[in-house]
This record gives sequence, C-alpha cells and structure tokens, in this order.
Amino acid sequence: MRVVEITGHHLNFHPKHPLGNARTFMRSRDFLALRITTDEGHIGWGEVFSSPWAAAALVRHQFSRFVLGRSPTLHRRIFQDMLESLGYDRRGPAMMAMSAIDMALHDAAARSRGISVAEMLGGPLRDRVFAYASGPFMREGGDPYRHYPDEVGSYLDLGFRALKPRAGLSPRADRKMIDAMRAQVGEGIALMVDMNQGYASGAARSSAFSMQDAGLLWIEEPVQPEDLPGYVAVARSSSTPIAGGEALASPAAFREFLEAGALSVLQPDLTVCGGFTGFQRIAHLADAYDLPVMPHAFSTTINFHASLQMASMLPTRRGGGPAGYPFVEWDPTGNPLLELIPLKLDQDGFVDVPDAPGLGMDLTPEMLEPWTVDSWTLASS
Ligand SMILES: [Mg+2]
Repeated sequence: MRVVEITGHHLNFHPKHPLGNARTFMRSRDFLALRITTDEGHIGWGEVFSSPWAAAALVRHQFSRFVLGRSPTLHRRIFQDMLESLGYDRRGPAMMAMSAIDMALHDAAARSRGISVAEMLGGPLRDRVFAYASGPFMREGGDPYRHYPDEVGSYLDLGFRALKPRAGLSPRADRKMIDAMRAQVGEGIALMVDMNQGYASGAARSSAFSMQDAGLLWIEEPVQPEDLPGYVAVARSSSTPIAGGEALASPAAFREFLEAGALSVLQPDLTVCGGFTGFQRIAHLADAYDLPVMPHAFSTTINFHASLQMASMLPTRRGGGPAGYPFVEWDPTGNPLLELIPLKLDQDGFVDVPDAPGLGMDLTPEMLEPWTVDSWTLASS
C-alpha cells in the first residue's frame, strides 16, 4: 500500500458574531483540511487549524516527498524523516504541516486495517469522554459579557456540565463575570477561565489571586505562551491550577514549563504539536510529572474526531470536576465545520468515542465544498 495523492482543501467561514477573547476578535476562521489517498483506495484526513496557508506550502514543497509513494503504516518513520528535514523551523507552520500529515497517515493506516486509531495504537482506555463547552466569547460594542447569561443557558440546554468562558479584560471584570456565572449555573457545573494570552503577568497574577476562591478547575493561558517567568509568577499567586500549552509544539517546549512547575494541566493541540506522534511524546513526558494532559481543539470535525481518539487513550487523573481528566474541548459557537458530523452529549455530559475505522468519521470533499475557497492536489508520478 502506498500514498498516491495528497489533496489540500482551504476552508473559511465567518462566525455569526465575531468571537472575542482577551487578545482579539475572530471575524474569519481559516483551516486546511488535508486528505491522503492510497493505491488501495483508503483515505485519511488531517487538519491545520492555525497558519493553514503557510503549512500548505510546506506540505506541498517540503514534506510531500516523504509521503507520496510510501505506506501510511510507516507513520512513525515518516514523522522522523520530516522532523529531520527541519533545521531552524521545528515549530510553527512546519510542525503544523507535519501534524496534519501525521493525523492523515494514522487515519489511513487504521482504516486500512479496519480499526480505529485508538485501537491501532494499543486500545482506548474509555469509550466516552467528558466534554466542556469552550465559551462563551466576548461581543463587540457595550459590555463584552452582556450575552454570557443567554449563551450559558443554551450550553446547559445542550447538556454541558463544564464551561470555559473567555476572560482577561481586567481583574475586577473577571471576578464579577465569574461570580455572575457561578450564581447562574450553581455548584454542580464546572467552570474554567481562558485568558487567551492576553495579560501582562502583573494583571494575570492579580486576576488569578482574586478568583482563587471561585472554585475554578483551571485558569488557561494567563500570559504569552513563551513567558515562562510570567507563568511561574501566576502559578505562585493562586491556588487555582494553571493550564496551557496549545501554542507549544514540542516535548522540549513542555519540558521547560514542567521543570519550572508552571503548568498543572497540559493542553497540546494535535494540529500544532505533531499529530498523534507528537502528542504521545508530550503525553509520555507529562506521565513523568504525573500531570493531566488533554487535547486543545477549537477546530473542524477532523481535529475534534482526532482529539476524541487521543483523549480515549490518556490515563485518568482527577482534577476536582464532575469527571476525571481528560476532558475534550467542544466549540459551541455554531462552527459549521464542526457540526458537519453531528455528535451528541449523553445525560452526564460525555461524548461517545467513535469506534469506526480511522478517526471514526465519514467525511467527503463534497461535504466541505460550501466552505472551500481553494484546493490543490499532488499525485505521485
Ligand atoms: Mg485556550
């Protein structure tokens, strides 16, 4: 079996309302969906969620030679070959391109064997994963939090039992927002807060300190992703666990944070850190520190399905919420590329892990067509 074709689908949509966090308003969302095909007719999907255009150039001009003509079952060797072709760029778009390829190779390899990716990698530890709503987001004009109560109500109606609102405007506003949300949802619903890299470390420390008796499961990305001293200072300012890592791309990057005691919850993104191969390397490192790791996913159904497979394989660690970690992140903002393949929460707020072959989803290029703004194909000669 060998890969004979790689197709890139550039996807775009505009959220109904720009999605605001402490750093930016998302008005337009772009993704690269990568599809590989083998000579035996098996296909595999991968995704790039950040920097899709740059990553596509790297797939086309640097990495395709390691993939075309080879079997997707050689995913580990292909990952190493791609990694060794990098010199100064072992993070960012190059690792994102590798991530999409690695994900697609795992999908195709597992499909060719008629089993799920989790089964191929040794078997899942659970058949359902606790999901949290990654929202609400701030709105433009007026009080940025004015729609939070309505949106929280709609998430609860969908069955979510954990929510992660965006915060990080000011320490006082953060505390006021989280108090109002706690009053609305009661004690039975888990709350976390995402600051999206927005604060300087002084304000982040002040906000984390002011919220430390709010019962939050974690405070996420309080400062810039490279600001290790800032993370350490925030972690020492509050008893609330600090989460992060969605922007970190390698075991070495996580090692620095773990050695410094800067993170209590690790959140690598499969589309950023090297797909299943890269994620597992980080998860093994986390094991050495006995820390919970769970996938960050604010993406299309491709990365969500990959994250479910990955989350099904991670050991359970209690984080103080209604279920043990890992949780899976769910974009509840009306993302049409996530809703392409409908998944439902059960009565406990869990989502079933699909056990169909590969990533466990039937996705076709036709389904992506309404959001496809460009596509290209590479074929082996
Ligand atoms: Mg985040």
